[in-house]
Amino acid sequence: MRSLSWKLGGALLLVVVISVGLMAYLVNLSTTREFRQYVVQGNMMYTQSIADNLSRYYVQERGWVEAQKTLNSFPVPGNIRLVLVDSFGKIVGDTGRDWLNRDAKSVGLNGGTPVVVSGQEVGELYVLSSGGMMMGGGGMMGGMMGGFGQPAPEVAEQEFLGRINSSLWLTGLIAAAAALLLGIFLTRHITSPIRALSKGASHIAKGDLGYRVNVNTRDEIGDLAQSFNAMSASLDKGEQSRRRLVADIAHELRTPLTVIDGTVSGIMDGVFKPDAEHLGAIKEQTALLTRLIGDLRDLSLAESGQMKLELAPTDMVDLVRRKLSQAEVAAREKSIELKLNALPNVPEVNVDSIRMEQVISNLLANAVRHTPDGGSITASLAAVSCDSARHVKPSLVISIADTGEGIPPEHLPHVFERFYRVQDSRSRSDGGAGLGLAIVKQMVEAHGGRAWAESEVGKGSTFYIQIPMGEKVA
Ligand code: ADP
Repeated sequence: MRSLSWKLGGALLLVVVISVGLMAYLVNLSTTREFRQYVVQGNMMYTQSIADNLSRYYVQERGWVEAQKTLNSFPVPGNIRLVLVDSFGKIVGDTGRDWLNRDAKSVGLNGGTPVVVSGQEVGELYVLSSGGMMMGGGGMMGGMMGGFGQPAPEVAEQEFLGRINSSLWLTGLIAAAAALLLGIFLTRHITSPIRALSKGASHIAKGDLGYRVNVNTRDEIGDLAQSFNAMSASLDKGEQSRRRLVADIAHELRTPLTVIDGTVSGIMDGVFKPDAEHLGAIKEQTALLTRLIGDLRDLSLAESGQMKLELAPTDMVDLVRRKLSQAEVAAREKSIELKLNALPNVPEVNVDSIRMEQVISNLLANAVRHTPDGGSITASLAAVSCDSARHVKPSLVISIADTGEGIPPEHLPHVFERFYRVQDSRSRSDGGAGLGLAIVKQMVEAHGGRAWAESEVGKGSTFYIQIPMGEKVA
């Protein structure tokens, strides 16, 4: 057995053959029994009616004088022989004639149907069939005689049962054929979506991730096909994002490497002097590469859920204050005012302080970078209490608001994606690789929180992070 169709078809064939065969056998058995009972009852009635007639004759004639004549006057089928024995055991009538006047016992007759007159037995009637059946008054076919053997169905009866049998088998065969045809149709109907799924799986295995199966049944296989399509769509999306990531990484690495390669070649060819300016450029690009690789590592750890967080109760107001003072040098260069806006008694939160410092640093660096000279940046912290109606859990919300250029609405939903930059052509020295906000999002989510942004072009942007409080973070 090779395929599912064969297995299902074989199982169906077995069920059909067994059930039809069993049904035909049982029906045949009960038909034969019922039919024989019917025949026996008919014979009994026939025998009894002749016995009654004979007793009337006996009363009329006061004896068995013309018994042979009377017997001959009864309607007797060709294969039936009537024998009448008087009360002394002598055969006084025989439609076969050869036993006339012989002793009943000498021809083996015994236990016939009694012929009764006024409660007294005046004789016995034997109805014998040439098929060997002896129909006695007791209802049973008793007695053995001459060459006649065991009671056996008569030829007509056998023919009748044979006809019933053949029509039974014919009906069974037609039913089996119909069941088989229907079975083949149903088997095909059931197995064709499975074949489609199997074909789809081999397409996916060969790397054709865009392949979708076309199964629209509303059953479990239909559900499986839907899950299959969802799985291949997600694999396809994953593969596309992996390719984009590799291309982005290659693109980001190329620029600093080109600068380093060009500068080193220039120095070696004697075009550039190995002075502080050129060595400084190499160092700057090396630092850029190191940062990029570090960012990528952090991002991939966070995305795969493998980043280990060293959680400890942390005073976030203090942490933000420290980060603000570190950003002060860069802010002062652009005359940007840095403000901290924190309500008193902001509770400590259970976070990995190093990761949180990285989050706040990235947000502040972006704010300083995108805020023009003379602008301002405000860091605010506020505890949000539990609100079961709005499903808000107690958490700490930190926001970094700037008075910068703002982010156009079409870009705003994408700024947390990795390698996403609003102005792609901007020089690397001015901006990063588009990983800063992706790292913020992943790290905050690793703490069970979330990050989002609001912005108005020309007015400024506000970046929010929400960290749950009072919950153990895994
Ligand atoms: P990058 O490291 O290139 O700044 P990010 O992931 O930090 O990348 O930011 C993604 C994009 O979001 C940036 O290209 C920038 O255009 C935009 N962006 C981030 N922060 C701000 C901000 N405070 N004001 C305006 N635009 C911002």
